[in-house]
Amino acid sequence: MALLVQKYGGTSVGTIERIKHVAQKVHSVKQTGKDVVVVVSAMAGETNRLGALAQEIAEFPDERERDVLLASGEQVSVALLSLALKELGQPARSFLGHQVRIETDSAYGKARIRNIDSTKINQSLKNGEVVVVAGFQGVDEDENITTLGRGGSDTSAVALAAFLNAEACEIYTDVEGVFTTDPAICSDAKKLARIAYDEMIELASTGAKVLEIRSVEFAKKFSVPVHVRSSFVDVEGTWLVKEDESMNDVLVSGVACDKNEVKITLVRVPDRPGLAAQIFGPIADAHIVVDMIIQNASEDGTTDLTFTVPKADHKKAVAIMEKTHAAVNAQGIKVDPDIAKISVVGVGMRTHAGVAAKMFEVLAREGINIEMISTSEIKISVVIGAKYSELAVRALHEAFVGKQENP
Ligand code: ASP
Ligand code: MG
Repeated sequence: MALLVQKYGGTSVGTIERIKHVAQKVHSVKQTGKDVVVVVSAMAGETNRLGALAQEIAEFPDERERDVLLASGEQVSVALLSLALKELGQPARSFLGHQVRIETDSAYGKARIRNIDSTKINQSLKNGEVVVVAGFQGVDEDENITTLGRGGSDTSAVALAAFLNAEACEIYTDVEGVFTTDPAICSDAKKLARIAYDEMIELASTGAKVLEIRSVEFAKKFSVPVHVRSSFVDVEGTWLVKEDESMNDVLVSGVACDKNEVKITLVRVPDRPGLAAQIFGPIADAHIVVDMIIQNASEDGTTDLTFTVPKADHKKAVAIMEKTHAAVNAQGIKVDPDIAKISVVGVGMRTHAGVAAKMFEVLAREGINIEMISTSEIKISVVIGAKYSELAVRALHEAFVGKQENP
């Protein structure tokens, strides 16, 4: 029987009313004869609330216990949704990550899914039940509860779709799909009918917070068709698909803005072999993901080394740097949280030149100073002062997307 995986985010299950609404939707799909596996997030705001409780006890809470705590948010929502389904006469069964056995590594707070055992889910589907799985959580080989990182329910859903061979994974959220930029910033933003996995990966990693990035990597790896759509309005959303020729005609599919990074500069680091390794080794050991890095050629034997890390990790990163900077003889540390990373993304860049030049020109026209630049095959990112972020997004959207008929 055809199997559909559906995922409902925190706002979609934010109140009892909304949970009942989700139950109706799931029930009606089930009645068309499909098997349905539903993945849910914690009720809106719940994960933050739980995180804050831990923070009241410790600045750096023990990560194992923090995961036990955070995972409880999804335990509430799977139970409530299953109850709502049963209330409609629809047999349903809730599963926590360890009950399915969604096996992950042991990186608390950002665990990676290694394997999903489909036995119990298949059994439950065979019994005519809707399977309701807690997103965001798994279990490591020593039976410790793990969580996958913020927004991780998307990854749970796509991974389940991959391991269960579902026909598609529908991600129900509070927006209608993936837009060319944030509609809250730019009223010209348009909904994309389709987007290539690689474009979505770049957009997701650059601040378009529609989908969690690992979920898109998973979708690409296993070619899972993903449909991002609204849980409130019944219209087609955006399909994540494999790249094809026709996509190359569009230079830029989206403009993203990420205010979730902090810039850290090690001032006047001696310029000798091995220093970058000495600096970034401990950061990597702490599982902190460094995004952009710049280092200039040195003139007097020292150089400033600047990099960005996620806001959530920046205190940890600065604490590490405070140890490292003495060891490597740097003159000091500067931390700048008031930055934004603006990116333009499009697979068309593979075959067309001049996008970077045009981007810099647009920013120059607006008098915006560029602090860092990085590029990939299909993306150009710049770091600018946070206060210019909206201006930059609007100007770039108008220059690259606004004039296209069908983005
Ligand atoms: N509840 C988790 C969070 O808020 C996971 C998710 O929503 O996907 O990050
Ligand atoms: Mg979420």
